[in-house]
Amino acid sequence: MDADVIVVGAGLAGLVAAHELTSRGRRVALVDQENAANLGGQAFWSFGGLFLVDSPEQRRLGIKDSLDLAWNDWQGSARFDRVEDEDSWAVRWARAYVEFAAGEKRSWLRGHGIELLPTVGWAERGDLRADGHGNSVPRFHIAWGTGTGVVEPFVRHARQAARDGLLTFHHRHRVDELVVADGAARGVRGTVLAADDAPRGVASSRERLGDFELTAQAVVVTTGGIGADHDIVRRYWPARLGTPPAEMVTGVPAYVDGRMLDISAEAGVRLANRDRMWHYTEGLQNWDPVWPGHGIRILPGPSSIWLDALGRRLPDPCLPGYDTLSTLKYLRTTEDIAGYDHSWFVLTRRIVEKEFALSGSEQNPDITAKDRKAVLRDRLLGKGAPAPVQAFLDKGADFVTAGTLEGLVEKMNGLTGEPLLDAAGVRRQIEARDLQMANPYSKDAQVQGIRNARRYIGDRLGRVAAPHRILDPAAGPLIGVRLRVLTRKTLGGIQTDLDSRALGSDGTPIDGLYAAGEVAGFGGGGVHGYNALEGTFLGGCLFSGRAAGRAAARQTA
Ligand SMILES: Cc1cc2nc3c(=O)[nH]c(=O)nc-3n(C[C@H](O)[C@H](O)[C@H](O)COP(=O)(O)OP(=O)(O)OC[C@H]3O[C@@H](n4cnc5c(N)ncnc54)[C@H](O)[C@@H]3O)c2cc1C
Repeated sequence: MDADVIVVGAGLAGLVAAHELTSRGRRVALVDQENAANLGGQAFWSFGGLFLVDSPEQRRLGIKDSLDLAWNDWQGSARFDRVEDEDSWAVRWARAYVEFAAGEKRSWLRGHGIELLPTVGWAERGDLRADGHGNSVPRFHIAWGTGTGVVEPFVRHARQAARDGLLTFHHRHRVDELVVADGAARGVRGTVLAADDAPRGVASSRERLGDFELTAQAVVVTTGGIGADHDIVRRYWPARLGTPPAEMVTGVPAYVDGRMLDISAEAGVRLANRDRMWHYTEGLQNWDPVWPGHGIRILPGPSSIWLDALGRRLPDPCLPGYDTLSTLKYLRTTEDIAGYDHSWFVLTRRIVEKEFALSGSEQNPDITAKDRKAVLRDRLLGKGAPAPVQAFLDKGADFVTAGTLEGLVEKMNGLTGEPLLDAAGVRRQIEARDLQMANPYSKDAQVQGIRNARRYIGDRLGRVAAPHRILDPAAGPLIGVRLRVLTRKTLGGIQTDLDSRALGSDGTPIDGLYAAGEVAGFGGGGVHGYNALEGTFLGGCLFSGRAAGRAAARQTA
């Protein structure tokens, strides 16, 4: 045998599984189609947002959270409706994961040297119903070092294990087949790809050098989701979300290619919830792209006006930062706008400075570098937009700025090449919204939401602009931002039990086969159900990768 256990995929889930294995003395072959520069996979690029419940950081900010509240939110978001079948393990994973987030998660992270910022963000504010989708309270904790800080300890462990002779890296090895014999996983076969020294995240060559085969007592599949392959995204795009856009931007590197899902199915593995996906509606074209079609997601505060392609304000709960999939559904199923691939934010200079954040480690260099002084200086005390946001304002293809609303609408129409927006209609809606700012209460759900958010100190200090009229010249100039759909996460995948054992088509575990991370729907074949509460993906990789590593170590004892 070449190893005790083969781990396919050197992203966060694979690295965590490998660490659990090597720290128990197991010999691991870590196989990845990319080169050594890409160790850590998507997690390296991620913002490092982590879902925690009732943490000391929340308590210090006066947030009263609890396992009950978080579980209520999770169920309202997940809306598990296949509990006899595709959701049967997902429901159990969900409960276990929320308990982990409310319990051991924080100390386990700290044990690995992962520290959290003192502020807590409020992502997915929800669909305005107590038992519906969304976070009732802020829960988005950001790791110092962003995603690079989350994955770094596990990269370090893997390198150390390699020096100790317990782990062998097989870079540029692409798995094309899982070897399952007599109902048991015993290895992998695949293609050795030509050496390629492309920098991290840049699409690499697929030139074949030859074939390979590795054997072991167990195989752990941690190969990520489908987000880079728009054909697969379109194939499984659910009818409930209307038609997929003709053009989308891509929120993940090219290696998030989804191939291993079909390869696993061919080996008899059961796939669940392939129609569940998590794509964002606030995507921008990156002015400085790393991977093909590289898009960046705006993490919006609640104040921008959101207009459809024809210039009409979106209805609630389609508000910035509230309900990702309701917004996607609205944009893709409303007859007269579904033919367009874009929508718009209209906002002021004051809003962009306080409320625009961009997802990704490279878009948050101060947090990624763990530069505490720079975070305080630029984010809390600073004037002007953060430098990465300013770079998009200056160089991004999707931004226009003007001193008057009529001038702005003209430029917005110029960007799409069609006079789809009528300045008078846009003005009417913005003036109506602005009239709602005169009192500390309002009948407008978005205005209510802005005031509600500012009752939370974290939002007031760092995230939500003081309420003001969009057309107040002192808050300007006005800014228009063209938004596209950005592909990102795969919510379904390989169905697994609570030990991350992959299930076969008959619903029983396949001996020696495990799956974790995004390829396993972050646990169970779809721990999120239909909707995510955010910051739950990295945590899902940690939790399911840990379970896989521990169980595979027990099996190979
Ligand atoms: C910009 C960005 C921001 C994000 N922000 C957050 C956040 O703030 N919070 C959060 O919770 N989540 C976030 N995420 C999501 C999160 O980072 C990912 O869901 C998670 O890292 C996936 O990890 P993984 O180990 O499952 O898969 P991946 O990181 O995709 O790793 C899979 C690995 O498997 C390899 N592979 C695939 N197929 C094969 C094959 N056939 N043979 C060999 N190797 C193969 C790939 O090359 C890759 O290295 C973000 C993601 C991105 C891209």
